[in-house]
Amino acid sequence: MRLIVKNLNILRSILNTINTSFEMKELVESAGNNLPSLFEFSAFGLFWKEESTLYLYQEESCPLSFTQEVAKNMLRVLNILGEGAEELDRVTLQIEKKKLRPSHMAMDPKATLKSYLTLPLAVEEEIMGCVSLNSDQPNAYDAQDLQFFSVIGYQMAATLKHYQRFSSIKTMAIYDTLTGLYNRRYLEERLMAETQKAFYGGASLSLVMVDIDHFKKVNDTFGHTTGDLVLKEIASLLKNSTRKKDTVARYGGEEFVLILPEAGLEVTVAIAERIRRQIEQTPFEVGQTQLNLTVSLGISSFPSHHAHSKEDLIQMADQALYDAKRGGRNRVCVYNPPQR
Ligand code: GH3
Ligand code: MG
Ligand code: MG
Repeated sequence: MRLIVKNLNILRSILNTINTSFEMKELVESAGNNLPSLFEFSAFGLFWKEESTLYLYQEESCPLSFTQEVAKNMLRVLNILGEGAEELDRVTLQIEKKKLRPSHMAMDPKATLKSYLTLPLAVEEEIMGCVSLNSDQPNAYDAQDLQFFSVIGYQMAATLKHYQRFSSIKTMAIYDTLTGLYNRRYLEERLMAETQKAFYGGASLSLVMVDIDHFKKVNDTFGHTTGDLVLKEIASLLKNSTRKKDTVARYGGEEFVLILPEAGLEVTVAIAERIRRQIEQTPFEVGQTQLNLTVSLGISSFPSHHAHSKEDLIQMADQALYDAKRGGRNRVCVYNPPQR
């Protein structure tokens, strides 16, 4: 009786650490470090499916052949649970080794898998992966181990589900659903950070505002669905014409904004001109026909244009864009301060 009470207390503290983990790596670490107080095992492993990748988190000293055995076992369990073999053939297995036990408890490099306890990580009938305790000793687990481990597995699944929901909400908050680019809210946030960096650090910062020419005609002629496809294609073209540190966002309907940190006016004009030319030369496939499109672009740049705030930069780029439209479209215009 006393042993059970002691184990229940350990179980409670393990559940508590799992419950308060904020992300996958933290959860794996806290589970891996706490489970030895309740179970005998050589390696603890967590299998997690994310789109077409299966991650296996495991103790770093686990020998490769042992890891392969564990992975094979877990795949078999997923298979039994109805995750089709064909589907599993299409996933990439990524092994993430972590230090999950003190150095003096490192695994014997010659250890082979003799027994295991594997549980699905399932919430609301969705199988997200599995967890397992793996031992180099035969018959290492009994019915009580299974009961205790089930409680832990259930809690892990619930925590991971929360984590998954939370990340999808985070994604929705910053991305535009149609194009996959950043949304306007994120753009404002990013621009705030970049202007502060530039204004106080003295580096250049440029903005390019892009608007598709006569886009209404595309909708009117080919329909809204085609219009949406064109927006997506232009979005990916913009994304591919920029560097990693640049931000490309959908500002509104068919308007986009590029934030180019550390890019001076001359470089920005060259980038904008390249984008303009590329769109002009790209035939967009619409059913049987091809559609030619153009864009107008407006540029503002710090320090060239003496902007004092992020609003200044936006307003100046917008003004330049207006000049590009008025000047006949399919062109790049740089902000031109009003003459006194
Ligand atoms: P201009 O050359 O002056 O920019 O002409 P325009 O027709 O592009 O400009 P206008 O602002 O009059 O029209 C923009 C059009 O973009 C109107 C709207 O129907 C369309 N639009 C805005 N958002 C979306 C969207 O999400 N999907 C589709 N298909 N069309 C959109
Ligand atoms: Mg337009
Ligand atoms: Mg517009």
